[in-house]
Amino acid sequence: MAAQIIDGKALAAKIRDEIKREVQELNTDGIYPGLAVILVGEDPASQIYVRNKHRACQGLGIKSWQYNLPATTSQQELVDLVKSLNTKAEVSGILVQLPLPPHLNAEAVIETIRPEKDVDGFHPVNQGRLLAGLPGLVPCTPAGIMELIKESGVRVEGSECVVVGRSNIVGKPQALLLLQQNGTVTVCHSRTKNLGEVTKRADILVVAVGKARLITKEMVKPGAVVIDVGTNRLPDGKLVGDVDFATVSQVAGAITPVPGGVGPMTIAMLMKNTVEATRLVMR
Ligand code: NDP
Repeated sequence: MAAQIIDGKALAAKIRDEIKREVQELNTDGIYPGLAVILVGEDPASQIYVRNKHRACQGLGIKSWQYNLPATTSQQELVDLVKSLNTKAEVSGILVQLPLPPHLNAEAVIETIRPEKDVDGFHPVNQGRLLAGLPGLVPCTPAGIMELIKESGVRVEGSECVVVGRSNIVGKPQALLLLQQNGTVTVCHSRTKNLGEVTKRADILVVAVGKARLITKEMVKPGAVVIDVGTNRLPDGKLVGDVDFATVSQVAGAITPVPGGVGPMTIAMLMKNTVEATRLVMR
């Protein structure tokens, strides 16, 4: 039987509607959420991401400011801008678009963001809070994936969860979120032996690697929920995930498409974090 397609676009639209209402309520109390996005250099993909974030803010009545800095910006100049945004009351969220040009130290820049304004959830304080199971700003992609899993109807509690990929922005926080909801979690990476044997145990499989069609039908347990985070551009220009959608969708119980799965949720969760940051900053 063909898998249920988990529609990230539709779910993101539903979440955006909720956020819009929340923003309107805050506005009536004289509170205006606002997101400052810093882009250094002219990377075309980053320019598109930043534009999409700006548009998403506009659609929800969230104020947004875009700082386009030249590729030659120094570490000190960037840190000084972040510090000045930390002190601005109208700025509730600060996002530094990654990757930064190679001469800049991204970790050091992120550490200067006030943790309550760190809407990407990349600051070590927010990472630590997630590890400790404390409330805080959670990275947008894994937070969005938890919503997609919920939408599929599967219960995380007691399920075998396998996360492929262990980056600080997706794989690791994803594993922690699944653990928080009482999943039995295994994390795979490039040194994992017999990847297919491990992924085949999963009731919930999250794949965040960046390798087109790494996960094939034989590697998936029949009926599993499969979340495909990967975004890979093929030579013909087509965008595909890390999961071979055509065959895996024949065995999985539910699956996210690429595009239209995880991507739209990531940006919706960024908007959610911006509203959340507004509350945290006011405390
Ligand atoms: P990273 O490159 O930071 O991490 C990739 C991970 O995959 C690493 O942990 C690596 O292992 C692991 N890996 C590499 N090769 C294999 C393999 N053959 N088998 C098993 N594991 C392997 O990537 P990100 O986490 O930043 O992103 C992953 C993908 O998700 C990318 O395609 C990215 O574009 C996409 N993405 C999509 C988003 C969205 O909103 N749709 C948001 C963020 C990311 P090791 O640690 O050992 O090197």
